[in-house]
Amino acid sequence: MDLKFGSICVRNPQTKFDYAQPHMEPIIASTTFSYDDPEALMEIFLGEKKGFIYSRWSNPTIELAENKIASLESCGLKDESGNALPLKARVFSSGMGAITTMFMSTLKAGDKVIVQGTLYGGTNELLTKILSPLNIQSVITDLKDLKKVEALAADSAVKMIYIETPANPTIDCYDIEALTKIARKKNQLVAVDNTFATPYLQQPFSFGVDFVVHSATKFLNGHGNSTSGVLIAKDLEFMNKTVFTYLKLLGTNSNAFDAWLLLQGIKTLEVRMERHCANAMAVSKFLSAHSKISKVNYCGLPSHPDHAVAKKQMKNFGGMLSFELKDGLEAGKKLLRNIELCQLAVSLGTVDTIIQHPASMSHVGVKKEIREQYGITDGLIRLSVGIEDVNDLIVDLGSALEKV
Ligand code: PLP
Repeated sequence: MDLKFGSICVRNPQTKFDYAQPHMEPIIASTTFSYDDPEALMEIFLGEKKGFIYSRWSNPTIELAENKIASLESCGLKDESGNALPLKARVFSSGMGAITTMFMSTLKAGDKVIVQGTLYGGTNELLTKILSPLNIQSVITDLKDLKKVEALAADSAVKMIYIETPANPTIDCYDIEALTKIARKKNQLVAVDNTFATPYLQQPFSFGVDFVVHSATKFLNGHGNSTSGVLIAKDLEFMNKTVFTYLKLLGTNSNAFDAWLLLQGIKTLEVRMERHCANAMAVSKFLSAHSKISKVNYCGLPSHPDHAVAKKQMKNFGGMLSFELKDGLEAGKKLLRNIELCQLAVSLGTVDTIIQHPASMSHVGVKKEIREQYGITDGLIRLSVGIEDVNDLIVDLGSALEKV
């Protein structure tokens, strides 16, 4: 049966055991798997038969999460022959585990990757501190300037365009379809960090991209109790062979418990995302009208420069926004000291609202001149709007703003 997104989220896999069929997914916390027959084990080792050997390589609970996420990213999409688009997902120790494994398995010394300036701080650091010394260079540019991207992509050393949209923390949105068209002309790969949108709001594979990554620590899990990441691709052989080799040798694997928590969180993904979107829209309208705020970045506002792109490629506008206070950093610090319901913390995508200051927290490792060039100013505050009663959120932000 062709299930819709919300049904895939809640449906329990039909995991069969000899003695019973659990209604909920089991946590298979075994590090290795035993067999009666050495021949059977050898066949699995040789890849001739499917099976589990060692949980750093693969694990039944992790595989349930992988299959569910692949189904969500491909929900409703078709391949060239009109069949359901087959995708393969791997779950990792974290979003950074997924991103690292993707870069390591696709790029080699001498290769270049085109990236935007407004990028998650950790990805930026990975590119500059780890990949650059390995002679994998990143070409940082404004991915909205398509002519410039096309000119840069003419360099034969460029192997990939890496897009994070909406971007952390400025909520800039980049045109996945247009950038993929540029990359296709030169047979370059396209990867999209879909963390802020989730497959419910945005399906990059519908524009022909090669890879999607997520920090599943965020909206996919939604409860702030599982650290994990996902890499999804349409080249199944590449995933089964190359990515599998890198995952097992880099040791970027997840574990049964985190994968299980991820599975539990995904059950409510659709309903959570609906509420995140509605609350974020109401909060961004409230902040936009406030006299102490100079700018609100929310791609759902018609005033946002990338509203049209967001509208084209997203179903709704997500739970993330950022804003600048007229009185800069000091005003921001006062605001953060006076909030009560919103939590001061670095993560995002949880059911509760999280507020943070990128310049001193998530982007502290990015050079000031680089982050300022891309709108990550000292006074920027990022808000991951949760699913609380939106009136309480507005009262909390409003009374903290009074004290600024
Ligand atoms: N991508 C984005 C957009 C993020 O915001 C983050 C973390 O905040 C990551 C990737 C890295 O994910 P993780 O913290 O799970 O390693």
